[in-house]
Amino acid sequence: MKCIICGRESSKPICEVCSRAIAMDFPFILHRGMALSDDRSNLEDENTQHSILFQHDLQRLNEMAKRALNGEAENFLLLARYAILFHENFSFFLNNFELGENYYLSLAKNFASREEGDYGKFLLAKIHMYMGEMEEAEEIMSKIWKKDRKFAMFYGEILVKGGKWGRAIEIYNELLAKSPDDKELWMKMADAIYASGNYEEAERTYLRVLQYDQNNALAWYKRGKCLINAGKWGGALQSFQTATRKDPTMKDAYEEMLKILMERGMYSRALETLKKMKEAGFNVDERIAEVEEAMRA
Ligand SMILES: [Zn+2]
Repeated sequence: MKCIICGRESSKPICEVCSRAIAMDFPFILHRGMALSDDRSNLEDENTQHSILFQHDLQRLNEMAKRALNGEAENFLLLARYAILFHENFSFFLNNFELGENYYLSLAKNFASREEGDYGKFLLAKIHMYMGEMEEAEEIMSKIWKKDRKFAMFYGEILVKGGKWGRAIEIYNELLAKSPDDKELWMKMADAIYASGNYEEAERTYLRVLQYDQNNALAWYKRGKCLINAGKWGGALQSFQTATRKDPTMKDAYEEMLKILMERGMYSRALETLKKMKEAGFNVDERIAEVEEAMRA
């Protein structure tokens, strides 16, 4: 194909030369098209998880990043945080550019490594995780996890991913001893127990999460997974159904229900489930036709 900007032969819509030029001017690559309004958002608030950025925010981020890449001192933490956020939410935009799929992560690494404090280290560990460098991530977090609840939760997550769920459970126990009503921690604990293969205990722990927050669709879904693993498909079906009621867009929960229903020849309920999926915006027309066909047979 030819580059849409300069017409050079290129394997991506925007060739390497043009991609680099855009990255120099707009390190976050995006510079327009995501603005919804002129409402002031707060870039500095680390609890804000933007999935949409406003025009002026994007402009400011690009300017800050440009200065940082030119060697000037900047708010590296904020920049690293946003580069990671871009990796998480917008990295599919990179498909149009000749920059590599880890472009935002490299950007984030550049910023995070220039920050001295523990929070910079935490972000570096996150970047390592996304790059698949789990040992590096674990090494960093093993030194700082005690300093912040968020660090500890992330450390636990990494340990679970690396199959060290026993250590993760120890850490969550330590944290829960101090804050026994922390529902997010209970959720992490349940995930670690699930990973350990103790499905009955995991199910009880997800139920505990649901005592605090009965609208937690993910916890209903995961409870269903525990019940499936324990061979209790009736309860699992109910749990998945509740998950889809709490979050009608939860595709995995519908799929689990359909698996159970189709395996048991419960076609009319499968049809009902598919119709709910259709209402929620999923394209399941073909599957509906298939089930209707099976019902006639
Ligand atoms: Zn070009």
